[in-house]
Amino acid sequence: MARRASMISPEEALETILGEVRLLSAEMVPLFDAPGRVLARDIVATVDIPSVDNSAMDGYALSAADARGATKERPARLPVRGEIRAGPGGDAPAVTAGSAVRIMTGAPVPRGADSVVQFEDTAEEDGSVLVFREVEKGENIRRAGEDVTRGAVVLASGVRIGSAETGLLASLNRTFIPVSRRPAAAILSTGDEIVDLGQELKDGQIRNSNAYTLHSEIRRYGGNPRYLGIAPDTKEATVAMLREALEADVVITTGGVSMGRYDFVTEALGELGVEIMIETIRMKPGKPCVFGRKGTTLFFGLPGNPVSTMVSFIQFVRPALLRMMGARRIEKPLVRAVLAEDIRKKTGRTHFVRGIFSVLDGNFSVSTTGPQGSGILRSMSDANCLIIIPEETGNVRAGETVLIQLIEHGEI
Ligand code: AMP
Ligand code: MG
Repeated sequence: MARRASMISPEEALETILGEVRLLSAEMVPLFDAPGRVLARDIVATVDIPSVDNSAMDGYALSAADARGATKERPARLPVRGEIRAGPGGDAPAVTAGSAVRIMTGAPVPRGADSVVQFEDTAEEDGSVLVFREVEKGENIRRAGEDVTRGAVVLASGVRIGSAETGLLASLNRTFIPVSRRPAAAILSTGDEIVDLGQELKDGQIRNSNAYTLHSEIRRYGGNPRYLGIAPDTKEATVAMLREALEADVVITTGGVSMGRYDFVTEALGELGVEIMIETIRMKPGKPCVFGRKGTTLFFGLPGNPVSTMVSFIQFVRPALLRMMGARRIEKPLVRAVLAEDIRKKTGRTHFVRGIFSVLDGNFSVSTTGPQGSGILRSMSDANCLIIIPEETGNVRAGETVLIQLIEHGEI
């Protein structure tokens, strides 16, 4: 039987867990598959973006000096020496003193020009452009390298690739991207009363929802989930199914970690040589929560109640998965909000109350989702945040300020 670890705070639990994380190896993936993955290497620009000075507007390239003093009534009149379109075009006409060149957005700024004035501030007649205002040197010119400078680290390893990063990688002509391998995450449900989808539900039985919430969460945070089924409440079956599960990088079970007579997970882990570091955490929901490691495999035995499963996943498994992939940002934003209703609470555990926040004129206010039973999965579906009430705090009153964790927001 594994050593029984003492009850610790959620902060201590996370620290213990992150301390056991090992970085996964890297692999190359096509750019289209890169979103959601974590960069395993720095990406250094091999080119300037944009590659040359180019126009930010449709208009006329000119020398700012030639429009000095120009007004609507007394426009500067400059002969138009030609036109430059975006894209590869033969020899661009140069701008000589006292002349202008018609130019389209994105086209390279011709020699001799130091600014661009947009069509709206001009008129063209008899082969000349009338410029109705003064122009500032450098106006409407995008400088070579202003977005990305050659030689600079554009994206650092540990960045989670989103849409903008994908676009940057595309501008750098990167078709294959070095990312951390996705952690293989085995999901195992436990419980004689748990029934899988498609099977008839008899009295007293419970539909397996946890495997599906976990599968979705693992995907969302870049892992590669594999659902292994439901282990019945016997030690032998639990050992057999866990043995297979332990091939993965991360194993997540639900249920079977309380003090009930049929809670076999901890015992099975002992038999399989998993070193257990956490067994209970001073939090609600989610007090029984087993964490251990065997070799490089991390084990999470989450409590069975659907809300406890999700809250524990968000607090502990999510950051571990992200850290395994080398992600720098693993924290959900915590912001202050004014409570719109009283919350009753005993001291001694951190509570993660499902909340709905709204923002009015930049001020956050938050109410609860209603009944907070750990079996009420609707409370998670209704919630857009978790109200975190520290362990030493008791009842909290409407009007007091609390911290809320923005669980739907990306990591910061
Ligand atoms: P346990 O810790 O195994 O006693 O489970 C606690 C509660 O969570 C029980 O009411 C279970 O029926 C419920 N539960 C356990 N596993 C699941 C699951 N996979 N899906 C939905 N509810 C579950
Ligand atoms: Mg059970």
